[in-house]
Amino acid sequence: MNHRDHTPTPPPALRRFLDEYDPPTPCLVVDTDTVVARYRALSAAFPQARIQYAVKANPSREVVRALAEAGARFDVASPAEIDLCLDAGSDGSRLSYGNTVKKPAAIAHAHSAGITEYACEASGDLHAIAAHAPGAQVSVRLLVDPPDSATPFGRKFGCSPAIATDLLVEAAGLGLDPVGVSLHVGSQQQDPDAWDGAIATAASVFTAAAERDVPLRRLNIGGGFATSYRQAAPDPAEYATAIAGALRTRFPADEPELVLEPGRAVVADAGLIRAEVVLVSRKAPGDDHRWVYLDVGRYNGLAETENEAITYPVELVDDRDGPDGPVVLAGPTCDGDDVLYQRTPYRLPESLRAGDRIDILAAGAYTASYSSVAFNGIPPLRTYCIREGRPTGAD
Ligand SMILES: *Cc1c(COP(=O)(O)O)cnc(C)c1O
Repeated sequence: MNHRDHTPTPPPALRRFLDEYDPPTPCLVVDTDTVVARYRALSAAFPQARIQYAVKANPSREVVRALAEAGARFDVASPAEIDLCLDAGSDGSRLSYGNTVKKPAAIAHAHSAGITEYACEASGDLHAIAAHAPGAQVSVRLLVDPPDSATPFGRKFGCSPAIATDLLVEAAGLGLDPVGVSLHVGSQQQDPDAWDGAIATAASVFTAAAERDVPLRRLNIGGGFATSYRQAAPDPAEYATAIAGALRTRFPADEPELVLEPGRAVVADAGLIRAEVVLVSRKAPGDDHRWVYLDVGRYNGLAETENEAITYPVELVDDRDGPDGPVVLAGPTCDGDDVLYQRTPYRLPESLRAGDRIDILAAGAYTASYSSVAFNGIPPLRTYCIREGRPTGAD
């Protein structure tokens, strides 16, 4: 595992845009050329794999449009994400419905949009798929037990190998096309070997299903590829080497078709949040740290600071002289949980003042999409997209 300290260099187009247009803060700016570059880097590291961008990581229309033009497929989780992808120029045949928790009406919507592949983990959903998307390809989500990631899925998704095998056999009986299994080893997974045990479990399902005359052919290893925040993450090649090794070992006779569903690794370091200091407060004379309240917090973009799971690099935009000192970083709302970092050490200049601007780096993933509608009357985080150095629109 790799825990080298790291300071990301944001795409230069982001700060050029901010300097020129000076939009109200807080806002997220995303360079879609960098998004496409990250998608291509993953494709190059996994040349055999089908890559489906997990739309929830950043559902900005311009992000989806740029990826669709670059040939990406999409992992969608709701009717609204389907409509967004179609609107942004993709096609139902390039979408896969990865959410195992869905209403029959959502399946019917997906089917009418031309989606032919669905993930599933329970018999009730399997029957709904058979009824509303007859003949569809079905993969069963496995509950896996990987090493901890920064934001693990816990036990929320998937089922045991025994139930997965039963479901795949049942799918064949319902006239569906049981293609294989899917899994996810947790988001911001820093350990490239985390997939090995999960791939071994998947292989056991392939064997068990084949013994019951249901041959499988596709393995969806999910997302989870990490981004370099304040620590360097493994690069795509390191993940590819570890995963190729696991596939060779666990599927010695015949490797399955490989599917990847990256979200974070495609969009995170393409984005930057510009924020402003609202208040600096020293709570008692002897306190060595100050509380620094920003205009962005847990409810308008920085949801992943919950439990301080994701530690964004922050940079002061305005020059401030003198020494720096420790700070607690907090958001602007009247909610006691709207504190970003009080255990993770952050330092800012002692001369910091209200009105100073702060950049939150590598903030393109799981920020705008997690922003609340109007908690305390604060609007959702605005996204501006930049393409070939020029703004393409806001949403
Ligand atoms: C969220 C999600 C992803 C993307 O995960 P990242 O950690 O952002 O790469 C992929 N697949 C499924 C099913 C997901 O729910």
